Amino acid sequence: MQFHIITIFPEWFTSPLSTGLLQKAQDKAILSFCAHNLRDYAPGKHRSTDDTPYGGGWGMVMTPEPLVNAIEAVSAPLSNPRRIFLSPQGRPLSQAKTAELAASEALVLVCGRYEGVDERVLAFVDEEISIGDYIVSGGEVAALVLIDAVARLVPGVVGRKESTEDESFSTGLLEYPQYTRPEEFRGMSVPDVLLSGHHADITQWRRRQSLIRTRTRRPDLLKKASLSPEERRWLTQMDDTDT
Ligand code: SAH
Repeated sequence: MQFHIITIFPEWFTSPLSTGLLQKAQDKAILSFCAHNLRDYAPGKHRSTDDTPYGGGWGMVMTPEPLVNAIEAVSAPLSNPRRIFLSPQGRPLSQAKTAELAASEALVLVCGRYEGVDERVLAFVDEEISIGDYIVSGGEVAALVLIDAVARLVPGVVGRKESTEDESFSTGLLEYPQYTRPEEFRGMSVPDVLLSGHHADITQWRRRQSLIRTRTRRPDLLKKASLSPEERRWLTQMDDTDT
């Protein structure tokens, strides 16, 4: 799978994309990354990519020509490129969305800066995606979040398939608590069931912990999660005992 990034700061991506899982995936030729310098697509001697907003107001807006030139030139040789503008006004990124994007052949990620981009650029992308209800100073950090979340769902990037299947959100629930050595740390012990070696008990304990944790921290997720009637009953009983 190919990731192409359009940015005024291509160097911003060097270290994160050449570290850990993402570097390994490139070594295995599962993923490839290319950060394109927007200035290379800007006309004129100064290669300017921004200008003052029509109608007045604070800050600068990215001009449409370099962005659209870049989107077209970068997309042209790709098969089925999905063009995404990172924007706080886009659809929020979710685990379901990352799974959908992980099935793409190529993503073209457009990073805004300053006050954002000229509205007409949006006619040249397929969708807008937000990383959350807050503003960061550029699309680069948002692109990196998206790349990392999508990349780990591409087969072969994360060692064992199971290790992404259990994770928070994949099942519609938050993940159960995890423990490793030592067995006792500052007076806190690992739950006995995890040391018992009884796989069925461990599976049930983990599932119930997921349910309890989701109910406490993110009750909104429970409404959409696929729970068995027995699990729903169990949660109701827990509610009764709590009150
Ligand atoms: N004035 C704009 C925000 C501009 S922030 C507004 O109010 O909507 C500059 C750039 O950072 C944006 O163009 C976008 O590419 C990126 N950005 C900022 N916050 C983001 C978020 N939550 N998700 C994705 N991209 C974001």
